[in-house]
Amino acid sequence: MFRTHTCGELRAADVNQEVTLAGWVQTVRKFGSITFVDLRDRYGITQLLFSEALNAQLDENPLGREFVLQATGKVNERSNKNKNIPTGDVELLVESFTILNKSVTPPFTIQDDTDGGDDLRMKYRYLDLRRNAVKKNLELRYAVNRATRDYLHQQNFMDIETPFLIKSTPEGARDFVVPSRMNPGEFYALPQSPQTFKQLLMVSGYDRYYQIVKCFRDEDLRADRQPEFTQIDCEMAFVKQEDVLNMFENLIKYIFKTVKGIDYSEAVERMSWQEAMWQYGNDKPDIRFGMKLLNIKYPRHVFADKEENAHLVDGADFQVFDAAETVIAIAVPGCSEYTRKQTDELTEWVKRPQIGMKGLVFIKCNADGTYKSSVDKFYSEEKLKAIADAAGAKAGDLVLILAGAEERTRKATSELRLEMGKRLGFRKDDEFKLLWVLDFPLFEYAEEENRWVARHHPFTSPKPSDIDTMINNNPAIENAAEYLKHPYANIKANAYDMVLNGNEIGGGSIRIYQKELQQKMFEALGMDAEEQQHKFGFLLGAFEYGAPPHGGIAFGFDRLCSIMGGSESIRDFIAFPKNNSGRDVMLDAPSAIDDKQFTELQIKLDLKD
Ligand code: ASP
Repeated sequence: MFRTHTCGELRAADVNQEVTLAGWVQTVRKFGSITFVDLRDRYGITQLLFSEALNAQLDENPLGREFVLQATGKVNERSNKNKNIPTGDVELLVESFTILNKSVTPPFTIQDDTDGGDDLRMKYRYLDLRRNAVKKNLELRYAVNRATRDYLHQQNFMDIETPFLIKSTPEGARDFVVPSRMNPGEFYALPQSPQTFKQLLMVSGYDRYYQIVKCFRDEDLRADRQPEFTQIDCEMAFVKQEDVLNMFENLIKYIFKTVKGIDYSEAVERMSWQEAMWQYGNDKPDIRFGMKLLNIKYPRHVFADKEENAHLVDGADFQVFDAAETVIAIAVPGCSEYTRKQTDELTEWVKRPQIGMKGLVFIKCNADGTYKSSVDKFYSEEKLKAIADAAGAKAGDLVLILAGAEERTRKATSELRLEMGKRLGFRKDDEFKLLWVLDFPLFEYAEEENRWVARHHPFTSPKPSDIDTMINNNPAIENAAEYLKHPYANIKANAYDMVLNGNEIGGGSIRIYQKELQQKMFEALGMDAEEQQHKFGFLLGAFEYGAPPHGGIAFGFDRLCSIMGGSESIRDFIAFPKNNSGRDVMLDAPSAIDDKQFTELQIKLDLKD
């Protein structure tokens, strides 16, 4: 046996025991004739004390950082106890030791606060993984994984693997493709999700399926995306939307309880997509704080049923507001005393290309009941008060107003709200707020192609009340400028997203299970019968053999872990992640392949620039 105990195990009760430890040398400190070593393994750190008697041996075999060391000796009570680590009451009085392996000097310090930059740590990820901070993240990931499996197993779900070498599954990204040597000139696609397989499993009668599974999407990477990522993928037969929502909010609550000890006892809030856009400008609102959007001016065709405050800024001859399609305000609590410098900084912030606004209007609701604004010239104090009141502002608050084209302004106000929420400390890592967003539009309009695309994916069913509208209307859009008047624009999907603290952590839908409706859906997306048969003949075929009503959901496992771990980056919770350009810098992948491989695949490379 290499060791009798781990480096995280020894306590005062073990004093005088003869033990053997094995681990990595974190630090070596020499004090006069004695030497201290911190020995680390996955479980913790134990101090080793080498007395003078071992000096000759140490001189012959000097220890260095990250050497793999085995040490035997007696557990001793420390005179100088370290309250910061669980083994801090004891140390090992080394009697004999063996260097099991040497190490070159690591490129960064392997401690909680490392001096290694991101790229360096990714290149030497196997060393980075030795750090406690990273290890804790992987432990949390494993705990979430176990809790998920426990819960789903208790609920009769079966883990069934589905293949990776498949045909395209449309989830809105590009496919990664793999050439087939045995079928020259033909390619597999890696699954963007196991969507069609899980539906086929429902047809096969496995009425509760799950898998913690890799998905592959070739998209331009944003900071929080990975080309391969993990989903908790689930599907159930004989369910309606309500059944799915209940089953899976209880899954998330179970994970919270088991992994974090948090009792999330209240019902998960629900909000329609339209309301989320109206109140938060965002289909994944962070509801940990208020500061809701006040829509002062907005396009009637988008928010037809809204009547509130539509004319608050009209008639003042203020060109910016008059020309804008949309004007939206938020009331920022307690910020009326912002200086000129601070409001200028906020103006610069909204002008950044990522936000893309031309400027920012503000109203200060002073503590003495007066109002001061950057548009005093156009609006009387009475009018400013009316706007501030409507935005829910109180004395001491600062009202921020953005104006411009609908989509951009809504998005920008949402970003500004989140930014102010962050600056003011309203977005706490240890507060968790779940939300279901429901009633998404089934279709989105693709301007370049003048056609409909599926907002979720083509297997999502319309709301039962919208099925007739879908069947009885021609999907063709005759007047592109008035696409919103097409009956398809108002069809709602039987779909749902789960949002946690402003992040979409899961999404799914009740599926189409009748062949004719699925064909109509494909047709609406511009696929003729031949293309339907070519791409999805297997699914349409399966639907002829008794497909049960079914629905499901998939959670972004990496993101769920990162939020639970209080981090913004999913990379921190993946053992071997890729960087923002989709590279594995440790492996140096992707990389060129041998000529021999090309020959075998019967492929000739002819790169276009
Ligand atoms: N396959 C879907 C996705 O990856 C989830 C679902 O509809 O169950 O987003």
